[in-house]
Amino acid sequence: MKKLALHWKILIGMVLGILFGLAMTMIDGGAGFVGNWIKPFGTIFVKLLKLIAVPLIIASLIKGISDLKDISKFKNIGLRTIGIYVGTTVIAITIGLLLVNIVKPGDGISEETISRLTETYANSGSVQAKIAEASKQKSSGPLQFLVDMVPDNAMKAMSNNKAMLQVIFFTIFLGISMLLVGEKKSKPLKKFFDSLNEVVLKMVDLIMLFAPYAVFALLANVVVSSNDPDLLLALLKYALTVVGGLLIMVVFYMILVSVFTKKNPLWFLQQISPAQLLAFSTSSSAATLPVTMERVEEHVGVDKEVSSFVLPVGATINMDGTSLYQAVAAVFIAQALSFDLTFGDQLTIILTALLASIGSAAVPGAGMVMLVIVLEAVGFPAEKLAIGLALIFAVDRPLDMCRTVINVTGDATVSTLVAKSVGKLGKPNPKNWDDNYDEV
Ligand code: ASP
Repeated sequence: MKKLALHWKILIGMVLGILFGLAMTMIDGGAGFVGNWIKPFGTIFVKLLKLIAVPLIIASLIKGISDLKDISKFKNIGLRTIGIYVGTTVIAITIGLLLVNIVKPGDGISEETISRLTETYANSGSVQAKIAEASKQKSSGPLQFLVDMVPDNAMKAMSNNKAMLQVIFFTIFLGISMLLVGEKKSKPLKKFFDSLNEVVLKMVDLIMLFAPYAVFALLANVVVSSNDPDLLLALLKYALTVVGGLLIMVVFYMILVSVFTKKNPLWFLQQISPAQLLAFSTSSSAATLPVTMERVEEHVGVDKEVSSFVLPVGATINMDGTSLYQAVAAVFIAQALSFDLTFGDQLTIILTALLASIGSAAVPGAGMVMLVIVLEAVGFPAEKLAIGLALIFAVDRPLDMCRTVINVTGDATVSTLVAKSVGKLGKPNPKNWDDNYDEV
């Protein structure tokens, strides 16, 4: 008898987690029980994924670069990747802006709802923390991101989950130097990293055995900690505008996959679905990265030369879902608080949302921090920022879950397109699949 495919198991875990969470909200002390006894299993799972992200990036990037033989190929992959990333992000923002200007979700929102949302969230610790964090990010100069990319201590970079670009910088530097000293001298190091790569991929498989139970815990916890259902309903039009935009992005990716790689887009989505489901459950593209890499390399057939560079860079800088959300959220807030946006302001949103999504960390809730910077760029009054964020806070977690799925799908799509364009899109590699991955 064939085993159930992994994505079905995860999906069942998610549905049961939601039902269990709902049941617990009806029981006295249920939320506390979930927090104390269920949530920790989700947290452990996310920690395990983050634990292997750095060794996986290093081992797979070194393998990718040292297999290249010729550095100019790497430059080619790098330029294509950045070009496609910027292109898809600008398209995502434009879709968001068009939708929010057509649907106008902020226009119909009543004064009463605005004051209830403001009262509930404007002075809350979470909203204030986002504004404080944004002002920290903004106080640095325009080239700060370049300075930040270069680590002064490789070990420190590896021990900081937010310093992924620094780890990538160091690893590329190391990999290129290995190419330059020649095959003979770098052989022992290459062998070590090749073997590390195999072993870490096995670790991903093992961690994934735990995924269906972990998503149960993660989703049960999201349900018991969610907000007042009335407020969620008041923001439904806004939330649906964001989700509608994200769905259009999925269709756009499917068209890209089908036109440029001639692969069946539904097959493609099925191959990466475990990564998408985890992105939804964890709200973090960084935590999902090990699974995205495994799925794209072993199940879609993208060569490591491409995926080992394109995916970690993408998890850090390519956030199509986040940038689309930032565009919709900024205009929604402006509409609700009757703050006029000119056509020029909307163009400013495109540029700043692009930079903001590059600057957003791949962790839950990061997109909202950078939204502050988008709002400030269009001249939104500083004293109203807290009110603006309060308006969207109630639905931010579910939207974060959805936009993270798009962030991950975008990275997987671009890696497949780049691989195809440089002749590195091969066949899936069933020999490396865990037994658990038998498809049904
Ligand atoms: N949670 C998102 C991610 O990790 C970032 C965000 O939009 O908040 O991709």
